[in-house]
Amino acid sequence: MVKPHANELSEKEKNILTKYALQLTQTIREPLLVLDENFCVLSATTGFKNRFKLIGQAMDGDSVFHLNKGQLDIPDFRNSLEEVLKTGEAINEKTFSIGLKKKGRKRFSVNISLLESPNAQNILLVSFRKLKEMSKTDKQEAVFNRIFKNILSKTPAAICVLRGPNHVFEVANENYMKLLGHRDIIGKTVQEAIPEVSNQGFIELLDEVYKTGEPYIGKETQVQLKVDENKFKNSFLNFVYQPTRNHKGKIDGIFAHVIDVTEQVEARKAVEDSEKRLREVIDAVPAIVWISDTKGQTVYLNKNWYSYTGQDKETSEGLGWLEAIHPEDREQTKLSFLEGHEQKKGYSIGFRLRNKKGEYRWVLDKAGPKFDSSGNYEGMIGTLIDVHEEKNKEDLVREKDHRLQGIVKEATVATAIYTGKEMRIDLANDAMIKLWGKDKSVIGTPLHKALPELDGQPFLGLLRNVLDTGETYWGKEDKVDLMIDGKMQTGYYNFTYKPLRDKNGKIYGILNMAIDVTESVTSKILLKESEFQFRQMADLMPGMVSKSNKEGVDIYFNKNWLDFTGNDTTKLKEKGWFQYIHPDEKEGFLRAWQDCLSTGCNMEMQLRLKNKEGKYIWHLSRCEAVKEDDGSIKMWISVNTEINKIKEEEKRKEEFLKMVSHELKTPVTSIKGYVQLLLTLIKKQEAAEASKLPLKPSLERINHQVTRLTRLISEILDLSRIRENQLELKKEEFNLNELVKETIQDINYTNTQHEISLDSDSQFRVMADRDRIGQVIINFVINAIKYSPGSQNIILKITGEGKDKVRVSVKDFGIGIGEENYKKIFRRFYRVEVKREETYSGFGIGLYLANEIIERHNGEIQLKSKLGEGSEFSFILNTTCVTS
Ligand code: ADP
Repeated sequence: MVKPHANELSEKEKNILTKYALQLTQTIREPLLVLDENFCVLSATTGFKNRFKLIGQAMDGDSVFHLNKGQLDIPDFRNSLEEVLKTGEAINEKTFSIGLKKKGRKRFSVNISLLESPNAQNILLVSFRKLKEMSKTDKQEAVFNRIFKNILSKTPAAICVLRGPNHVFEVANENYMKLLGHRDIIGKTVQEAIPEVSNQGFIELLDEVYKTGEPYIGKETQVQLKVDENKFKNSFLNFVYQPTRNHKGKIDGIFAHVIDVTEQVEARKAVEDSEKRLREVIDAVPAIVWISDTKGQTVYLNKNWYSYTGQDKETSEGLGWLEAIHPEDREQTKLSFLEGHEQKKGYSIGFRLRNKKGEYRWVLDKAGPKFDSSGNYEGMIGTLIDVHEEKNKEDLVREKDHRLQGIVKEATVATAIYTGKEMRIDLANDAMIKLWGKDKSVIGTPLHKALPELDGQPFLGLLRNVLDTGETYWGKEDKVDLMIDGKMQTGYYNFTYKPLRDKNGKIYGILNMAIDVTESVTSKILLKESEFQFRQMADLMPGMVSKSNKEGVDIYFNKNWLDFTGNDTTKLKEKGWFQYIHPDEKEGFLRAWQDCLSTGCNMEMQLRLKNKEGKYIWHLSRCEAVKEDDGSIKMWISVNTEINKIKEEEKRKEEFLKMVSHELKTPVTSIKGYVQLLLTLIKKQEAAEASKLPLKPSLERINHQVTRLTRLISEILDLSRIRENQLELKKEEFNLNELVKETIQDINYTNTQHEISLDSDSQFRVMADRDRIGQVIINFVINAIKYSPGSQNIILKITGEGKDKVRVSVKDFGIGIGEENYKKIFRRFYRVEVKREETYSGFGIGLYLANEIIERHNGEIQLKSKLGEGSEFSFILNTTCVTS
């Protein structure tokens, strides 16, 4: 319902309202105004009229703002009236400054409230109270109170003032109230207000302060305060009881300033507890633990320190612990400790620590800085662990490592060590650097940087694989391209990539050792080429060529061998070519071949080989050793050349000679018989005429020629006999010295130019074919004569050889024989070739026969000779009897 405006009120209503307002004002002496909703005066008390000098003025119905020429037309006042009317809420004690006639502006405290009149109209009741002018002290007090209130309410401390000897609460700030759980305390004694503290000693303290005037300071004092029915809270308080005095200086109360430090105390206690627990833990750690403070002084050492070193607390603290460290390590340890502290940085150091028994043992000290939660440095904390055994082991490892490095440096084999994933060249000896074609600057750089040419070659990958798998890699004749002297060069190397492990078995690097085998590889390649050429050549050769290894196992046969036998290489290899040798020669060949294998001497032999038609064909078989530079046998080359035709011709020749010899022998023998008969007759007759005729010398010459002819004929016959194995020996015992003497006489008979001397130390009897041995001696002497045209002396010696052997030697000073011919001259028909102008007659069968004869006597022929200086041929036979 919209209330009708006052203006629109009926006269009757207006009267009711005014009457009510009058009733209100009549009983009140205070200055009071009653206003309608339009702020027009309904009534005013006399007090108001007096105060504002309005006595005798008609004012009912006037607007309040028109009174006394707008005395109350104050904007703030107008706002306040409108506010109350609008909200219905009263305004109390609001101060307005109002101008009074002759008195100037005065301050009034104004209350405005809204009332409902009996006819349900709103009226405003406005009362005025003149405010006293404040004295200076009042003002000061007010300021002080405001400040005090401010301070008290804002200070974190709980503050109260206790008045009188019974300690009555006079004032207490919010914090104090909070501390006590907002109890009603003002005006009450401490005893009444907080009965639970009566037996906690506080009242006694207050009494004491009040009595003595001495302030009391409590620190972290525990107090139990009741927070609830039967519920107490434990608090820790820092507090001051300060006595207050009146203007006469007498104590009239106590000012209490209390700070609740419960939280801090509890936190500290918790820290202390945890520290205690920590120390217990630290003491239980199986290591020595130390803690130093911000000044670098050791403040704590756990139990283990004392039990290990036997030191006591006093000597250890500060820097006293250094005394237990080996004098040689002490300075360094101290330096590390102080440096770590100064730089607030962790460190680790090994030193020898003296134990209780006085022994020094290696320990490892690891320390780190300690910071609180705000990052402030608190000192260092460290642990000491006995590493004596490990250290000794480590020393060994280090020594080994050192030795390894030494070995690497000095090794003539190219050696390098790569470490880490990137394979940094940790070490490379001169030999390796030379092999790489680099200089020392590569040390310390990763391998792929030092040798970029390895990119695209397999080695970096192989190295990585060794790092990953731990398996050593062996390179054999691997081809490596290296940039040497500015150009890429290819080499071949035998090398190893061997993983290096630390003492825990972890791979930390690779040891690389390499040997340059370029030369041997290239020569192998060349060898292969030359072998190919050899095969080609061997196939083109007319003979049958085969190759066997140094043990004599056949490894190659040329085409002629395959054609000759009709077998392939595999078959030939299986059986060996020796199987094709005629049984008559096979044994002799195998014996000689064995001899070759063991001595490395070459061999030459005539033998028959069976061809694919099963026919034996004569071959000259030669086996020659191919030797290495050091003289060891590398392989054997055997060549078999067909000599069947030569052989057959030789045979025919021999048969012819045999026949001729036979035919000649009979007439020659009879001629010789007649010549000798005639010579004997001439000797007997000694006729003067006869002597005048040159009959005797002619006969002697005929005799000499016939002797030569006879000897030649019998030699040719012997030759055939030997071929047919029909040379028979007629052995008898005879005096060798006599035979030699007779033979010389015989020769002297026809040869007068040479002087033949004989020297013998004993008389030797032998069991032999006298004629054939004589034949040998004649052969030696005649050769000595024949082959020494420029010298006359021929020396024959018969000497004992060991216990039961005799040597007959024939020495000349003639043309001599070259060593290459020593063996050959004993072959049939072999004659040393000489310059054309010095031809020597002969057939080359004498020595062959001599050798055959002596061999059949189980004797031996020896030759000592030097080209141009002469020769000494000798034979050795067994003796049956030796006499001096
Ligand atoms: P020949 O009939 O050719 O003398 P031999 O069998 O007796 O045959 O000798 C073989 C070869 O040995 C001779 O041709 C000769 O070259 C060499 N010879 C033998 N004895 C001597 C010697 N005393 N001094 C030098 N050469 C010799």
